[in-house]
Amino acid sequence: MRQILVEINRNAPAADQLADIQKAYGTGKYKNILFHIFSGIADEEWLVQLAQTIEQCFGTKHIVGTMSAGEIKDGMMIEPGVLVSAILFERSEISILRIDGVKGREIEIGKQLKEALDAVPDLKAAELLFPGTETDTEHMYAEISRCRKEIEIFGGYPGGHKLNSPEHFIFDGTGAMYNTMLVITYAGKDLHFDMDKSIGWISLGMPFKVTKAEGKHLIELDGKPAAEAYEKFLQIDRKKHNNAEEAFEFPLMAVQNGEERLRSVVHIEEDGSFWLHGFVKEGMNIYLTYGDPTNIVGIVNERLEAMRRFKPQAIFLYSCVVRKTFWEDFVDMEMKPFAKLCSTCGFHTWGEILRNSRTGELDENNITMLSIGMREGDAPAEELPEVRVDDTVLQGQASVLRRLTRLVSTTMEELQKAHSRLTYLAEHDALTGIYNRGKMEHLIENALRKGGTSSLVMIDLDFFKHVNDTHGHDVGDSVLCELTGIFQSAVQGYTGAQIGRWGGEEFFILLPEVDEQKAEAFAETLRRTVDAHVFPTVGHLTISQGVITVHNYQERKRVYIQVDDALYKAKEAGRNRVEQAPSLFEGE
Ligand code: GH3
Ligand code: MG
Ligand code: MG
Repeated sequence: MRQILVEINRNAPAADQLADIQKAYGTGKYKNILFHIFSGIADEEWLVQLAQTIEQCFGTKHIVGTMSAGEIKDGMMIEPGVLVSAILFERSEISILRIDGVKGREIEIGKQLKEALDAVPDLKAAELLFPGTETDTEHMYAEISRCRKEIEIFGGYPGGHKLNSPEHFIFDGTGAMYNTMLVITYAGKDLHFDMDKSIGWISLGMPFKVTKAEGKHLIELDGKPAAEAYEKFLQIDRKKHNNAEEAFEFPLMAVQNGEERLRSVVHIEEDGSFWLHGFVKEGMNIYLTYGDPTNIVGIVNERLEAMRRFKPQAIFLYSCVVRKTFWEDFVDMEMKPFAKLCSTCGFHTWGEILRNSRTGELDENNITMLSIGMREGDAPAEELPEVRVDDTVLQGQASVLRRLTRLVSTTMEELQKAHSRLTYLAEHDALTGIYNRGKMEHLIENALRKGGTSSLVMIDLDFFKHVNDTHGHDVGDSVLCELTGIFQSAVQGYTGAQIGRWGGEEFFILLPEVDEQKAEAFAETLRRTVDAHVFPTVGHLTISQGVITVHNYQERKRVYIQVDDALYKAKEAGRNRVEQAPSLFEGE
């Protein structure tokens, strides 16, 4: 396999510029040839002519063209122009499937394509090129994903350089296409691929829940218009023209089943809803994200190492247009090292597609850089030299950005730690470490709402004032802690049991799915355990308990009053006793 790249000068005859490719192909060493045309110039007529010229010169129909937001030659962006890649295969078979009228027929097409891919012998990879942004890719990809698990699938969405109105078309010798998918199949017994995505963007702060969404239309986060998150945290005004450009570099990260998918915002509506470059689903967690240069470089370096070990003969880089806007002048930094391994080309995309090797699903991504390595035959024994991103520039001009992102990420980490500490403090009793009254009430309410049978035990230490008066407050404190330990041992074996400190020397124990008899037995055993226990310094102490059992009963106030009455009765009757309140039933 061999890849040859030619940047086409529009002012000279195209055929002349393809001489190098012709020479290589003319040796007879290669069986098949595949052309990609990556164009940053939206001149449909001229591009179709170029495809036709290639068709005539090489007698092949294996030509696909795509609009691009940045043409990558030898791992570097060229001036917006036209780049031709020819891949020459010694043994592998190429075919191009053309599927017209994608919009509105997504599921049907997904099924067709699945069948078509499964029918290709020794199919190793399929490449999809089509303007995916306005189609129901979610359902189409779900169908395609049913194809043989070992088939790798990758691709990119076309779109020109203009961020406001990119020209989303693909083309070949027959014309420019806006609603067609071109699928390139790469087959061969000894054809190998190694492909993966690199991201490096980091989630920012706490997640939002998607509360309203339809496919690529994200309507509400946490019950509020989605744009409020951008207005509040990033000061991106939804009413401002071109607002999506500003939101562009802060994509959303959707997390589902542990998989992270980035979604860039294409357009913000006045009503505060977003149009995204990929679908989201209600119930998903969504984070704001930001690009951390140091992290991105680390991630790309990992990918470079994997690619080096694969020993590719040709590489495609399909990298999101957001990465280009993010890096600006430094965009080559993360692409150039790939070209040290072998010939590397590609384009800046308006969406990237990659089959997830773990789940088999075809994922739609944004902000990713796909690196696709190919090789015919076994990997040679000889090792390729190590390659890494040269990030010296990050120490210099870009270092302010690097330091600021570092500041944001460490601040976020600290805040998150503080937040979890505060949540802990808000729910726990400082002395004993068990739940406090607020949390306990919340748990009891949940249990009542859930229905079924539950029992509650309210406990008060007898003559505790005397302990404090005799031995001092500190000894009193340690008694409360020791008592907590006894409660914790007592609830072992009671599924879902919760213990809380109600205040002072009063405690509450919630016993889900425990009926009257079992609750009484539990309290009685606890009473005896405490009675028999010897507290250091203090000696013997006793507890009084009120117990209540509820069946599908929700009126919490009455529950508290009755259990408190029962405890009062236990005290009145001489302490060191268990008193059961009348049970409460549904509808009472
Ligand atoms: P009874 O058998 O009627 O419950 O008598 P009692 O002495 O236990 O009840 P009372 O309500 O009169 O006194 C409770 C005491 O618990 C009063 C208060 O000093 C003490 N107390 C409340 N919270 C704490 C605490 O956090 N630490 C300590 N050491 N004592 C506490
Ligand atoms: Mg007491
Ligand atoms: Mg008390």
